[in-house]
Amino acid sequence: QAALKSHAKHPYPDWKAGEPVPYAALCTTFSLIELTTKRLEIMAHCSLFLQQVLRLTPEDLLPTVLLMVNKLAPDYAGIELGIGESLIMKAIGETTGRSLAVIKQDQKEIGDLGLVACKSRSTQPTMFKPKPLTVRGVHKGLMGIATVTGNGAQGRKVDGIKKLLAAADANNTGKIDINKDKGGPSEAKYLVRFLEGKLRLGLAEKTVIVSLAQAMVAHEAAQKGTVPSTADMEQGEALLKTVYSELPSYDVIIPAMVEHGIQNLKEHCKLRPGVPLKPMLAKPTKAITEVLDRFEGQTFTCEYKYDGERAQIHYVAKDTNEELSQSAVGASKEVGKGVAAIFSRNSEDLSKKYPDILEKLPTWVNEDTKSFVLDCESVAWDVKEKKVLPFQQLMTRKKKDVKAEDIKVKVCVFAFDLLYLNGEPVVQRSLRERRELLHKAFKPVEGEFAFATAMNGQELDEIQAFLEESVKASCEGLMVKMLDGEESGYEPSKRSRNWLKIKKDYLSGVGDSLDLVVLGAYHGKGKRTSVYGAFLLACYNPGTDTYETVCNIGTGFSEAVLEELYAQLSEIVIDRPKPFYAHSSGGQHQPDVWFEPRYVWEVKTADLTLSPRYKAGMREGVDPSGEKGISLRFPRFIRVRDDKKPDEATTSRQVAEMYRKQESVANSKGPAVDDDF
Ligand code: ATP
Repeated sequence: QAALKSHAKHPYPDWKAGEPVPYAALCTTFSLIELTTKRLEIMAHCSLFLQQVLRLTPEDLLPTVLLMVNKLAPDYAGIELGIGESLIMKAIGETTGRSLAVIKQDQKEIGDLGLVACKSRSTQPTMFKPKPLTVRGVHKGLMGIATVTGNGAQGRKVDGIKKLLAAADANNTGKIDINKDKGGPSEAKYLVRFLEGKLRLGLAEKTVIVSLAQAMVAHEAAQKGTVPSTADMEQGEALLKTVYSELPSYDVIIPAMVEHGIQNLKEHCKLRPGVPLKPMLAKPTKAITEVLDRFEGQTFTCEYKYDGERAQIHYVAKDTNEELSQSAVGASKEVGKGVAAIFSRNSEDLSKKYPDILEKLPTWVNEDTKSFVLDCESVAWDVKEKKVLPFQQLMTRKKKDVKAEDIKVKVCVFAFDLLYLNGEPVVQRSLRERRELLHKAFKPVEGEFAFATAMNGQELDEIQAFLEESVKASCEGLMVKMLDGEESGYEPSKRSRNWLKIKKDYLSGVGDSLDLVVLGAYHGKGKRTSVYGAFLLACYNPGTDTYETVCNIGTGFSEAVLEELYAQLSEIVIDRPKPFYAHSSGGQHQPDVWFEPRYVWEVKTADLTLSPRYKAGMREGVDPSGEKGISLRFPRFIRVRDDKKPDEATTSRQVAEMYRKQESVANSKGPAVDDDF
């Protein structure tokens, strides 16, 4: 903050005001960030650069921030690069005139494709000087690569990458030493890392948001010739964080912030139908008494925890002056007298999966309900028996291009929260109020739409009975939520202690299942020789942006599932572990094959233990010697979690929290640690 207040300057020389931001300037920032691990320093580098962009070329702020967070567009736009390591290697080879074999050899030795690109570039004499890359040009080029479809798409993607790589480091005439300063500000290195989906700078998205707020506050103050106070900075940070959590779209927020100023942002950037929010999530608990301890002295409510798929339904009627946000148009459909869209917990478009929900939606809405954002669970429904079916049934539904008339597995929507109603966000109201609004705005239709079954009793016996009832009704257990007061507001994107989950299965286990990323596999033996027999799994550490190994797993798979997994995983085999895999290097502990980090599996475990073989939670201080990580004992495969991306896997901190909880229960040390992650 001191650096910001004294109007410190970013080390990259100014470019002419109004000219496109040079990509080299962004890469200088990346390099400075990469060379430190101190959060405050990272933040200062980031925000000084954003200030420079604001001062000279504010219209490039959006692509700059997007490239910093390794995104091309908001998640719900569904834009993905769809490029594997082999395509990138091909492009590097073809740009630099080196053979694929040499690139592969380099990749084996160096282990970081970004550095391989940087090394390849530095040994190649340039025939002519290409035009230097700009931030907006790189964003456009990458967008072009991501949106290529149709015949020969792969070839055209490679061409797109080659074009960018050929222009990379145009101003960098000297040799780049990859052993010095981690390759320095090489553009080729960061381009390749962006393509791989990981910049690996230790720059979390939250840090970028805070830095952006600081930059804006400092920039506005500088324009007025003043210096911002710490309070101004903190207020700006809190404001931007809240706005982003309710409207997670840089495409909307950044232009509005530049135009209207950060102080007026809330007015212009409110939660709105068409921009999906990251949902509020719950903390796991192992016992009803733990729930009672947490909510002591406050009123709470229990709801059935339905086992289906989270769905966020957005709707706007045509006869209002509201519109569904432009950016969701691709995902929306006309229904009755309005337009609607459905999003997953990942903000992905579910409209094509649930045409049946969209079709019936208008019949659940009361006359006065003109626009809403509804939080609910879509659950497989047994039409004959009139009851909930297990999650496995829902999984058999097709995911895309579903035609309403072909649907075999019917769903019933169980609504449990309302985030927006008739032109107004309601997230800050208490849950009791939101529930009242929800019940007024909608009407249940048997087997199609219902309100989550709820009970407001506060006694242990009542909760116990309600839990048993929920399990009889084929639910997973209960969600227990704060009912009144400020703390009962809806907290988008937070795993909050104001929502607790009690799952019947885990009451005597570790409290919850884990969602882990598949990093590698072992060839099967005996009956399993044609498939993988066991797998290496990892949790995610958002602080270091690494995957930390947590167990090997070979239980819970049917033969059919193993075959399916083999087919899926053979497509993403890579030659060696990614540099952001934290794994044991001992020879006998290495899996036979490594994979790109793509699939997330839900796994149950008997308990957690410390082991020198795994790396999970090593930085969380659970092992005083600092040599052991946490590992799962007797892990068991439950299902593939299609609705989670690898960086949404269970975090190292959550694993450490589960371990500590287990230890504290074993040692009767009282209530467990329960902080946010
Ligand atoms: P899980 O494996 O438990 O679904 P998760 O990480 O997906 O884990 P949690 O926060 O642990 O999410 O549990 C909340 C999930 O439970 C929600 O995402 C939602 O899909 C589902 N759910 C079912 N019933 C309810 C309810 N009444 N209130 C809130 N969420 C519910």
